[in-house]
Amino acid sequence: MSNSVIKVTTGIIEKMKQHYARSLIEKIPQGGVFVAKLPSCTITAYKSGKVLFQGSSATQESEKWNNSSQPNDQITRTSKKVQHNYAPPSNIASLSIIGSDEVGTGDYFGPMTVVAAYVHKDRIPLLKELGVKDSKNLNDEQICSIAKDIIEVIPYSLLILHNPKYNELQKSGMTQGKIKTLLHNQAIVHLQKKIAPEKPNGILVDQFAEPNVYFKHLSGQKQIARDNIFFSTKAEGVHMAVAAASIIARYSFVKEFEKLSKKANMELPKGAGAKVDIAAAKLINKLGTSALNDFTKLHFANTQKAMKIAKK
Ligand code: MG
Repeated sequence: MSNSVIKVTTGIIEKMKQHYARSLIEKIPQGGVFVAKLPSCTITAYKSGKVLFQGSSATQESEKWNNSSQPNDQITRTSKKVQHNYAPPSNIASLSIIGSDEVGTGDYFGPMTVVAAYVHKDRIPLLKELGVKDSKNLNDEQICSIAKDIIEVIPYSLLILHNPKYNELQKSGMTQGKIKTLLHNQAIVHLQKKIAPEKPNGILVDQFAEPNVYFKHLSGQKQIARDNIFFSTKAEGVHMAVAAASIIARYSFVKEFEKLSKKANMELPKGAGAKVDIAAAKLINKLGTSALNDFTKLHFANTQKAMKIAKK
């Protein structure tokens, strides 16, 4: 007997129930919506959106509803993604969009950089030609070279949150999520003013929080960009504007990082791993613990680890 589980929307579950109307049985497990018994497969749909197929034709039957024939985990992610009402429209890639993204949130050393970039639809082919794509597939050298080209051809707004200010905000009780949200919003608002009176078709944020949380963080702010705003994870692949924002943010982060390394007079490693602990310990021994405030995001666990290493 084979098993197959897929995750679908409640709308699809309703469709399935109609489809299997003749085969429904009365006994439904807890949390279930319906059970259908076919000659070679039993189908159990749950309120959670999970649908379990059991029997020799389980795979075949489940594939009828798995229209894109993606692996199940992708279906789960897709259905999760559209849980909010800010999913980008299907034609977004061809619209004129402000995209925003940030870099440095996971790096112990160095600032957080946030960029909003505006890509008019007519500029999309040019950016493609300049090599703008998902920056995760590019190394720092490629990113810097592409960034230098694109900052000449598109309007953008860059915010750099240096370590002392970051630590101050964090100590005042702000979560990293709130800090990110404020900076994204600020970069977008700046850029809207910069390109006015031109109005983009929409705004696309590389999603780091649920939209309701994002807007909660912004309550009380004087200016909130919320008209035609969309959120998507992996948004670099959804619109060129986010890919461009991501590249400029990375470029700026790399430049700031180099400045910091110079200031520390040693090579600072990126990320937040064991190498980082050792480098931070070295820095403590050179400049004292208080110097970390100028170079690092103090609340990371690396601080305690580095202090332990430095004592040895
Ligand atoms: Mg991002």
